[in-house]
Amino acid sequence: MPHITRADVPPFPNFQNATIFPSFAECPLATDAPKDPNHYLIATVQEDMSFSDVPTFICKDRENVAFALKVHVTGGKFDIKALKKGITVIVKGAERGGVVDRKQGFVGALAEEIKVIPTNVGNLIFMSGNPLIVARDGYAAVDGDLEPSSDRAFCDGCGEDKKISELVKCGGCGCAWYCDKACQKKGWSNSGHKGDCKILNAVRTLDLGDRGWDKI
Ligand SMILES: [Zn+2]
Ligand SMILES: [Zn+2]
Repeated sequence: MPHITRADVPPFPNFQNATIFPSFAECPLATDAPKDPNHYLIATVQEDMSFSDVPTFICKDRENVAFALKVHVTGGKFDIKALKKGITVIVKGAERGGVVDRKQGFVGALAEEIKVIPTNVGNLIFMSGNPLIVARDGYAAVDGDLEPSSDRAFCDGCGEDKKISELVKCGGCGCAWYCDKACQKKGWSNSGHKGDCKILNAVRTLDLGDRGWDKI
């Protein structure tokens, strides 16, 4: 397996940007025209409410407002079981349908267009503000603040600030630094990189069509 380097990892999206990642209420109505498809509804899956042949999930958006996500399965490649409670779904260009007679409405999406990240929306927004996550190279403490650095980084295991040339990267995500195998083991379990690594990997492999993460 080729070793992933930080250069292969797209920048972590800024999920704090509510224009690109709007709440459910801020998504356009399906009846509106014309539309700008360059927004992504992000929501945490709460409950599987499928009772017909249209899989339906109750989700909560970034404002913690619940809505229904109706999934249209056409090809059969999508694993509906991937929509587990607590994970984030990303729906490009989401539109609200069925908003009549004070009904809140729902969002319909083709199964193959739904992206999933194995953590909740609150954590994604939190991670977007974490310099250890968003730094492209390394990071160094400057006057008590963390700043991007091209030649220094902290070991995720022991926390020591070192020259990048003395560290190795996590082979799973390319985003964490370690002194050696012992520190990697420590960082994986004690510092919780196990969870972050999965999330970073899912973000790295997101395919958002014409809008690359680098434009967000
Ligand atoms: Zn270390
Ligand atoms: Zn990793």
